Amino acid sequence: MNIEKDLTRERARKALGFSQGRNSPLPQQRKTSHQNIFLDNLMKQCYTPLMKVTLTAKLKLHTTPEQFRALRTTQLAYRDALNYVSRYAYAHGKMSNKVGLQDGTYVEIRARYKIPAQMACSIPRQVGATYKTLWTKVKQNAAQRKAGITKKRYKGLDQPPKYVSPTLTYQLGHDYSFKTEHRVSILTLQGRVILPYTAYSKHVTMIQQDTPIGAAKLWYDKARKQFYLLVSLEIEVADPTPETHTSVAGVDVGVRYLAVTSTTKGACAFHTGKSIVPKANHYARLRKRLQKKGTRSATRRLVVIAGRERRLKQDANHIVSKRIIDRHPHSLIGLENLTDIRERTKRKRGKKATRKQRKANVAYSKWSFAQLQSMIAYKALLRSSMAIKVDAHYTSKACPVCGHTCDANRPNKGLLFVCQHCHYTLHADLIGARNITMRTLLARQDWARTGQLSVAPGSLDGPDVSVEEAKAARLRRYAELRWMPDTSPRASAGGI
Ligand SMILES: [Zn+2]
Repeated sequence: MNIEKDLTRERARKALGFSQGRNSPLPQQRKTSHQNIFLDNLMKQCYTPLMKVTLTAKLKLHTTPEQFRALRTTQLAYRDALNYVSRYAYAHGKMSNKVGLQDGTYVEIRARYKIPAQMACSIPRQVGATYKTLWTKVKQNAAQRKAGITKKRYKGLDQPPKYVSPTLTYQLGHDYSFKTEHRVSILTLQGRVILPYTAYSKHVTMIQQDTPIGAAKLWYDKARKQFYLLVSLEIEVADPTPETHTSVAGVDVGVRYLAVTSTTKGACAFHTGKSIVPKANHYARLRKRLQKKGTRSATRRLVVIAGRERRLKQDANHIVSKRIIDRHPHSLIGLENLTDIRERTKRKRGKKATRKQRKANVAYSKWSFAQLQSMIAYKALLRSSMAIKVDAHYTSKACPVCGHTCDANRPNKGLLFVCQHCHYTLHADLIGARNITMRTLLARQDWARTGQLSVAPGSLDGPDVSVEEAKAARLRRYAELRWMPDTSPRASAGGI
């Protein structure tokens, strides 16, 4: 009887994905089970807003010339081995199976590239992951072509992917470990080297305390001739619940304003890229010119310019995401599911484009909205908020007041949104943010009622019937949403 009871309990544990010891105290057990239910639920939705937040600590490594050479040769040998495995995978049916890759290449990795055994397993794993990602893109593209969304064929797997960056991945305990007194031991072709490091003091404290540490990357800053070890640290944050996330906000990202936010009470904020976007465009123009030139020195300059452009955008995204999070503590923050709009905001190119459009294509730099969103998502968790994704369909065309949805609601694609049905008029960029806010509010209401947070799943495997059906159902519910006009204080206060 007792055994049976134990067994059922065990089974229940397994179902929840328990990994805890049997003798752990009860209160802790309860907490973990709650966390696991929540995580399971989110995994089903193909979206994990990370209950564990990963931070990256940047450790500056202080090397002797000899150690420096050891690191550099290891890094380059690792990259060569990656490219070798990539060619092998390509020749064997573009294989993404890491076990198959490991079996086929291990001996060669050890013999030809002299990679130490502890490190040799990382290489087929990394290549396998790259191929898996590319296969996903190939399948998505095939589905999109079949559906007539795009005509372009994805060419990512037409030849073996080549690893250019010599960044090397280390696994804690296998090929790198921490020593006392701000020192780290990492593996090279010539054996282990022990290096003193310096870093941001908060991160050093975290490393010295019991913060779980993950994999690390050895990164070489070419311009400064300096090695850094980028170590990922896992921080646990409190389980998000509807009770702890009392407010709701929606964030719309776009070119005119990097982000526009709105709350359910109508408070809004515009985050412009006014000072940054022209600079990014300047770099983009410069980059295009250098690309055309194609000389060796132009290519060298190109690398520098590309780096500046990337850092400029990254810094701006950091600033905007921080501002948004500061404004919305304890909130459920809705973001658009960008996979929906990638094809929608396609630029016209080639012969189809007018001269003006072609000129614009040269001048404008693409902004990384996915990066902005992921920064918002991760900073939110550190500040007791949480970001979720909602469907992006018609967020800029639907009237928040009467629900009327059509292209004409945006006369001449101008700055004003004018509903063709109820004549509700508002700044066009705010419409998106409001619609996202309402969808997020709906998600929060469901969450409070059912304990399940349903979010827009990222389309990982192309069109799936059940996913598509669920999406259609969500879109039908969105069509019912109505915004109380904020111009009338009675309506917003009374909540009719
Ligand atoms: Zn309307």
